[in-house]
Amino acid sequence: MPPHDPEGFDWRSIARCAALPPASVFARRPVDAAPALRACNTCPVTDRCLRTVDPANTWFDGVCGGRLWSNGREVPLS
Ligand code: SF4
Repeated sequence: MPPHDPEGFDWRSIARCAALPPASVFARRPVDAAPALRACNTCPVTDRCLRTVDPANTWFDGVCGGRLWSNGREVPLS
């Protein structure tokens, strides 16, 4: 985690998923991602999370912005 954020605050410290296990945040299957996805529903930094992680352009695997991603593509949840 960087010590200083260019926008003036450490957004990760108020992320609802901050205390969740990495296995949920960086899950690959919807069943494993469920706790992190629930956290996203009430997260105050969803937009910042999406802008910073930029999952579609970084081949991201895991939960970001209320969605589950695999290799930068959204994983269908139903
Ligand atoms: S939007 Fe979801 S994954 Fe992103 S910081 Fe918030 S709780 Fe975590």
